[in-house]
Amino acid sequence: MEVIQPTSLAEALDLLASADRPLTPVAGGTDVFVGWHGVDKDGLRLLDLSRLSELRRMRLTEDSLELGGLSTYWQVIESSEVTQAFPLLSESARLIGAIQIQTRGTWAGNIGNGSPAADGVVVMMAYDATVVLQSREGVCEIPLDEYYLDYKRSVRRADQLITAIRLPRRPRRVEWFEKVAARRVLAISKLGVAVVHDGHGWRVVANSVAPTVCRCRTLERALEEGRRFADPDEVLELLEPDISPISDIRSTEAYRRRVLSRILHFRFAEDGS
Ligand SMILES: Cc1cc2nc3c(=O)[nH]c(=O)nc-3n(C[C@H](O)[C@H](O)[C@H](O)COP(=O)(O)OP(=O)(O)OC[C@H]3O[C@@H](n4cnc5c(N)ncnc54)[C@H](O)[C@@H]3O)c2cc1C
Repeated sequence: MEVIQPTSLAEALDLLASADRPLTPVAGGTDVFVGWHGVDKDGLRLLDLSRLSELRRMRLTEDSLELGGLSTYWQVIESSEVTQAFPLLSESARLIGAIQIQTRGTWAGNIGNGSPAADGVVVMMAYDATVVLQSREGVCEIPLDEYYLDYKRSVRRADQLITAIRLPRRPRRVEWFEKVAARRVLAISKLGVAVVHDGHGWRVVANSVAPTVCRCRTLERALEEGRRFADPDEVLELLEPDISPISDIRSTEAYRRRVLSRILHFRFAEDGS
């Protein structure tokens, strides 16, 4: 195994561009090292990003929040300005692992890992985030809801790094997040859902109910039309085209359908939406 420690973003991008064998970026390592025992370490080459201090920056302006490629959950929790501007970020961050994970784990790593259960991805997607990908060839920005191709597969090329995540700052009429897990902390989601309504419309985003974190677009369209729901089964009918939950060690597909539709029905009735 080889660990390479660039000291600048330019050096990291050069290394990725000229690599003849895959290089695995490591930010906080809280996902990479979980699978450590099962990994074939012989050919493994790790690109340690931790010295790229330029990626740690978090910038809140009137128009947007920019999370750097190394911004951690803790940075968000600690910032009252960011928490006020994007409350669901802090809410989800507080439910991710425990303090040790929150201080090491990054928002970009949560995206990069591509887990369908990712709690950070749900709220960032609900806030209409875009992912900034940088390589030696240049920079491109992709909506987070177009980033995943399938389970753990994304549009990111091997020579690109996630250098930032941008969240637009807009007035919102509705914003909430629910995580359902075996306990309140240190537990991976059985399912989660974040709902935002702003000037660009509704976004209903769920985790652990499809191969990737997903938008429930059929339900979103019904909400745009002003539909009200008499019972959870009406909500479930509108979720079905966009979700495909499975049964695994954390939950069953029936539970996931049932609880997701009930939470949404309850919250929509409560919010008067
Ligand atoms: C005990 C424990 C509890 C946890 N609880 C939760 C939880 O409740 N909810 C949850 O969602 N997650 C949880 N996680 C998972 C993990 O902490 C998060 O996904 C975290 O955000 C990963 O960030 P990281 O910086 O540690 O990523 P890393 O482990 O460094 O990287 C993760 C992946 O992203 C890639 N990557 C990282 N940074 C970049 C970048 N800048 N550009 C391109 N690719 C990149 C890496 O190559 C790797 O594939 C938990 C993990 C542990 C160990």
